[in-house]
Amino acid sequence: MREFKTESKKLLDLMINSIYTNKEIFLRELISNASDAVDKLNFKSLSDESVKLDDEDLAIRVSFDKDARTLTISDNGIGMTGEELEKNLGTIAHSGSQEFKAENAESQGDAVDIIGQFGVGFYSAFMVAKHVRVVSRAFGSNEANVWESDGLEGYTIEPGERDGHGTDIILTLRDNEQGANGEPGEDYDRYLSEWGLKDLIKRYSNYVRYPIQMMVTKSRQKPKPEDAGDDYKPEYEDYQELETINSMTPIWRKHSSDVEQSDYNEFYKSTFHDFEDPARTVSFHAEGTLEYDALLFIPGRAPFDLYSRDYEKGLALYSSNVLIMEKCADLLPDYYNFVRGVIDSADVSLNISRETLQHDRQLRAIARRVEKKITSELESMRDDDRDAYETFFENFGRGLKYGIYSSYGMKADELADLLLFYSAREKKMVTLSEYAHAMPEGQKAIYYAAGDSRERLEKMPVVTGVLARGYDVLLLTQDVDEFTFQAMREYVAKDMPKVYEDDAAKEAAAKAVADGAEPELEDRHLELKNVATGDLDLATEDEKKDAEEATKENGDLFEAMKDALGDKVEKVAVSARLVGESESPACITTEGPLSLEMEKVLQRGPE
Ligand code: ADP
Ligand code: MG
Repeated sequence: MREFKTESKKLLDLMINSIYTNKEIFLRELISNASDAVDKLNFKSLSDESVKLDDEDLAIRVSFDKDARTLTISDNGIGMTGEELEKNLGTIAHSGSQEFKAENAESQGDAVDIIGQFGVGFYSAFMVAKHVRVVSRAFGSNEANVWESDGLEGYTIEPGERDGHGTDIILTLRDNEQGANGEPGEDYDRYLSEWGLKDLIKRYSNYVRYPIQMMVTKSRQKPKPEDAGDDYKPEYEDYQELETINSMTPIWRKHSSDVEQSDYNEFYKSTFHDFEDPARTVSFHAEGTLEYDALLFIPGRAPFDLYSRDYEKGLALYSSNVLIMEKCADLLPDYYNFVRGVIDSADVSLNISRETLQHDRQLRAIARRVEKKITSELESMRDDDRDAYETFFENFGRGLKYGIYSSYGMKADELADLLLFYSAREKKMVTLSEYAHAMPEGQKAIYYAAGDSRERLEKMPVVTGVLARGYDVLLLTQDVDEFTFQAMREYVAKDMPKVYEDDAAKEAAAKAVADGAEPELEDRHLELKNVATGDLDLATEDEKKDAEEATKENGDLFEAMKDALGDKVEKVAVSARLVGESESPACITTEGPLSLEMEKVLQRGPE
C-alpha cells in the first residue's frame, strides 16, 4: 500500500470533513472531472491530426447498482496512465487539469472549457463513499490501471482492464445514517436512485457541454392484441432507455440574435419556476479583465413571497457551465431583488470548495455592470412600452422607492427617473420628468399630496386649491411614497427651458431662437412640496394683502375658534390656499416635516 503524499492525511481528513458544506456536490465534482477529461481529448483531436474522433461518441455515463451500493461515473475522455493516476489522485491538491490549462493557454481559445483547478474535487467522493475504485486507460495506450482507496489510509495502483480509453469512477456508498435525537440522518440511498441522480445532474451539471447519460426506466403502452374485445383496457410495461439528462447548451452563452425569445421564455419558466413569460430579457457578454456572460430576466409578475422575509434575492452563478451558487445575493442591489438570471464566468476566482467566490472585488464589478444594465433596460421599457412598464411598476415599484428611501436619497440619481406617480391633472401615471416638463412657467416646485385613497386626495381642498392655480399635484397612495420624497427632498429636472433672470436676457434669447438658434436648456432643482404642510408660498401680492386684512378684521373670531378647539389645533389663520374653483370654505394643514398621513403610517408601525 502506498501512502498519500505530503501532509496528505491531514489534508484529506480536512477535505472530507470540512471543506464542503454540502455532501451532494461530490457528483458535480466527478462529472466536472469527466467533462474535463473528454474536453482534453476533444482538444487533442482538434490540434492533432492523428487523433480521429467522432464527436458524437463523447459522453459521460452515470449508472448505479442498488444491491452492490455502487455508483459509477464513466467517461470516454483522455484517461490516465498509471503514472498519472499516481500523480493526480495520489497527490492531494495536484491538478492535472490546471497544468493542462497552463500548457495550452495560448492555443485553447473557445475549444475547451476546463473546469478543474484546485486538485481537490476528486476527494469529495469520500464524503459519500467508503471505497473508491478508479479504472482508467489513457488514450493511445493498451493498458489500463486500477486505483483503489478506502480514504485516509492510502491507496493502491494495480494493472487492470478496460475496453477503450477513458475512466470509470466506481463509488461504494456508505450506509444510510441514523440522525441523532430524531433528526433525519444522512441519506446516501438517494444517490442510488434514478430521481436522486437526475435531480443532482440537472441542478449542478445541466450545462456541462457533453451529454451526461443514464439508463432510465420508462413506461409504454403494450400493443393492442389482435383479438382484443370491446372491453379491452390498455396495458403498460416498463422498459429501459439511455437518456441524456443534461440540456448542455447554456443558453446564456449564445449570442442573443441566435436565440428565439420563446426559447428564452422556456428557459426562464423552467429554471425559475414561473408560469408567466418574463417581461424583459437582457443578455450580454462582458469582456476585459473579467470575462463573463450574463442572462437576466425581469419577471412579468411579482412572486408571492417578494415582500416577505423569506424571499431570497440573487443570481445563479456558474463557472465554466457548472453551478457554483444558486442565489448569489451580492450580484443584485436590494431594489432590483426581483431580477432573476445567470452569470457565468470562467475567470472568477473561486474558493477551494468552489462554493463561493474568493474576491468580493470581482463580484462588485459584475454587480455594478448588472445594475447598470437593468436600469437601462427599465428606462427603455418606460420609454418604448409604457403599458408594460406600468405593469412592471405596479409589481416592483415599491422596491425602487424603498431603494431611494433606505439609501437616504443617495440612490435617487439612479432611481428617481424610474418612478411613476399618479397625476391629479393628467389622471394617469407620470414620471417626475414628465411632471416637470408640463409645468407652467413660474412653477418652482413639484407638488404632492399623500393619503391612502386617490379619490379622497382628489377632493382635498389643499389639492384642488393648487390645481386651481394651474399646478399639477401628484397623489401618493403607497406607504413608502412620502418617505421616499422626504429622502429625496428635491428632483433635478434635466433639459428644462432656461429661466432668464431679467426681461432683457429673456428677450435676447427669444430673438436668438427666432433667428434659428436652439432654445437654451438647463437642469432645474425642484423642491418636492407636500400641499398639506407648511407654507406653499403661492399667494399673489393681492391675495396676501386680502389675507392680512381678513386676519385683522376677524382676529376675535380666530381666537374664539382656537379657544374652542384647544389642544387639537396649533393655530387658526386665514389661508390663500383655497382659490378659484375650490369649493371648500376651510382646510386643515400641518407644519413641520411630518404630514398627517405620514404620522398615520408611523403610528401603524412597520408591517
Ligand atoms: P481538479 O479537477 O481541480 O484538477 P480533482 O481533484 O477533481 O482536481 O482531480 C485531480 C486530477 O485528476 C485532475 O486535474 C485530472 O488531471 C485527474 N482526473 C480526475 N478525474 C479524471 C478523469 N475522469 N479522467 C482523467 N483525469 C482525471
Ligand atoms: Mg475536479
